Amino acid sequence: MTLLSRRRFLKSLAASSALSLSACQNLLRTSAKARVVIVGGGFGGATAAKTLRLLDSNIHITLIEPKANYITCPGSNWLFAGLSNLDRLTVDYRALKDQYAIDVLTDRVNAVDRSLRRLTLASGNVVAYDRLILSPGIAFRWNAIDGYSPVVAEIFPHAWQAGPQTLLLAKQLQSMSDGGVVVIAAPPDPYRCPPGPYERASMMAYWLKQHKPRSKIIILDPKRSFSKQALFEAGWTKHYGYGTSNSLIEWHSLADNPVTQLDKRSKTLITDFGDRFSGDVLNIIPPQVANELTHQTGLTNLSGWCPVKPETAQSIFDDYIHVIGDAAHFAPLPKSAFAANSEAKACAMAALGLLNGRTPEEPSWMNTCYSLITPSHGISVAGVYKLDADKNLISVEGAGGTSPQANASFAQREAGFALSGYQNLVSNTFY
Ligand code: FAD
Repeated sequence: MTLLSRRRFLKSLAASSALSLSACQNLLRTSAKARVVIVGGGFGGATAAKTLRLLDSNIHITLIEPKANYITCPGSNWLFAGLSNLDRLTVDYRALKDQYAIDVLTDRVNAVDRSLRRLTLASGNVVAYDRLILSPGIAFRWNAIDGYSPVVAEIFPHAWQAGPQTLLLAKQLQSMSDGGVVVIAAPPDPYRCPPGPYERASMMAYWLKQHKPRSKIIILDPKRSFSKQALFEAGWTKHYGYGTSNSLIEWHSLADNPVTQLDKRSKTLITDFGDRFSGDVLNIIPPQVANELTHQTGLTNLSGWCPVKPETAQSIFDDYIHVIGDAAHFAPLPKSAFAANSEAKACAMAALGLLNGRTPEEPSWMNTCYSLITPSHGISVAGVYKLDADKNLISVEGAGGTSPQANASFAQREAGFALSGYQNLVSNTFY
């Protein structure tokens, strides 16, 4: 793919005497060396940066991410079963810098000036862009559960951004006495990783079954149903006594009576109608919205997420800004790393097309989410997505689906795919 050529640029200038000054400046910036800036070095941002380079060797690509190392949330539930550790989940940006010639800035974006098309970083540096791709992930709605806050999360971790929170929760699980109770407060839709809370309960149950078998995990859910529910429940029945009085896992749907309060002192979660659930370990996963930066940039609507034109991932509020990954409203795609990777590839192609004055090709998207119930029992859900005639995102009927029920050898293979799928996704994104 080439940038706007000099000849085409001069021709277009000559042909359009009515071009405004700002439009000319825009063309000049683009023809000199287009600058695409990407905010967030997670699955969405890193994939966008790498894909842009694979498509165009000339363009200037900057990736801005505050952390020198990124810890993947995928795989982080496996820690609770003793199957992984943070080192194995940590990636760095060396390959993106050295092999793909991406300018990686270890810095945080404090503000986006949409009219001047430039960013102010925490370091005080200013970075200009021709196109901006935002993939900054999620923020929590801290006011949804009275008594829960970022400070209190250091005692009762959410562990929904992998790192020290994950270690803290794993440590609390290990220190709990046999016969103890873990309460997981699951979030309402939409949120990052729909099967995540249930894979977490499975991984905790696997560990408790071996080390503290008299214990219990109670999931409090503001939803009536959850992702891969039939497969999870079949797995829990097979491995953890689900549905019996000795079950290691209990699932409570509290759709009309969600958790609204935390009493720290008694380690109790209290629902809207005053029902109380006490635990020795509390894992509170709060409701979620798009990352703060997107709110302050005026890219969110009342839902708290960023509406986009799916075919290009351009914000409906700003043609020069694309939003991908968890922060964007890409439903029916789920908020997953796999989906963020797929959105990023389509977005990179669209952004280059737009820089070159071409109408972007119509993309399609994919998602696959694996979950482990035990180390040798995996389940998955997959989907393929396209645009309908009105440019709405829809699932392609007959493509994807879930793993078959009651098939032990398939479940064993799915567990293997969960591990290799994770490695492929990490390698496809960062290396
Ligand atoms: P993120 O990965 O969160 O990346 C956002 C990046 O932006 C961060 O590195 C952050 O530091 C950076 N950032 C934020 N603000 C700024 C700023 N102002 N300036 C610069 N940078 C900024 N998905 C799967 O597909 N498969 C799984 O098995 C899976 N398992 C999961 C298990 C758990 C427990 C959890 C919590 C999630 C799981 N997910 C899984 C979901 C997956 O982690 C997310 O969907 C994915 O990380 C989204 O990528 P993203 O790029 O949108 O955001």
